[in-house]
Amino acid sequence: MAQGTLFIVSAPSGAGKTSLVRELVESLDGIQVSVSHTTRERRPGEVDGVNYHFVDVPGFEAMIERGEFFEYARVFDNYYGTSRPAVEAMLGAGQDVILEIDWQGARQVRSQLPEAVSIFILPPSRSELEHRLANRGTDEHAVIARRMREAIKEMSHHDEYDYLVINDDFTTALRELQSLVIARRLTLEKIRERHGPLLAALLS
Ligand code: GDP
Ligand code: ADP
Ligand code: 5GP
Repeated sequence: MAQGTLFIVSAPSGAGKTSLVRELVESLDGIQVSVSHTTRERRPGEVDGVNYHFVDVPGFEAMIERGEFFEYARVFDNYYGTSRPAVEAMLGAGQDVILEIDWQGARQVRSQLPEAVSIFILPPSRSELEHRLANRGTDEHAVIARRMREAIKEMSHHDEYDYLVINDDFTTALRELQSLVIARRLTLEKIRERHGPLLAALLS
């Protein structure tokens, strides 16, 4: 079976990554989001196993020792990581997989899987980023201030990515993300994998 494609999506906190990725996987077949492990506190409304696998620090460190992470990083003093077996199983089943990870994790993934497609989402302005973080209503003031400072650092890594999407109008940004996923499915290599018999029949 043809392997799925791995997509890396990064953005500063509040740029709209989670909302865009949720709509993206609802709007297309054959694509799933990898559910990360994290040691951060659960936000109101977040569900264990859906938004993240919430684990404690000793549990996370035990997973590191057992080599269970495809990549992991410390972001805002918490650990975040991607389970290797979960991602390999989805790709092996021919599903495209999205990793919503930070720039440090993106580097680790690229070095192991250079064919991964990486996308960086930018907000339309700094003030809009701040509004979105505040309006989301999930974080305290100090946490928002911290995330704004870190946002500039995260955005400085935009030039390590294959594609940039500016999330000004949500529908436009969503369409751009859909286009990237669909275009990747139409490359010569992917069509050969999926439609080998058709190509053979057409040319015989
Ligand atoms: P939000 O982006 O504001 O919704 O905040 P989150 O707490 O969901 O994510 C915080 C940061 O951790 C973001 O930069 C994410 O991209 C990053 N992150 C989330 N999951 C992972 C992961 O599995 N691995 C890595 N390396 N980073 C992650
Ligand atoms: P991230 O996962 O990057 O931290 P979220 O998806 O949680 O970001 O989005 C942050 C906030 O901004 C949410 O309240 C979301 O509804 C809002 N948002 C996302 N995209 C847009 C947009 N294009 N226009 C206005 N608000 C947006
Ligand atoms: P939040 O705590 O707001 O949910 O996420 C904060 C940051 O952690 C986001 O920028 C997100 O991309 C990053 N992040 C979430 N999961 C992972 C992960 O599995 N690996 C890495 N490296 N970063 C992650």
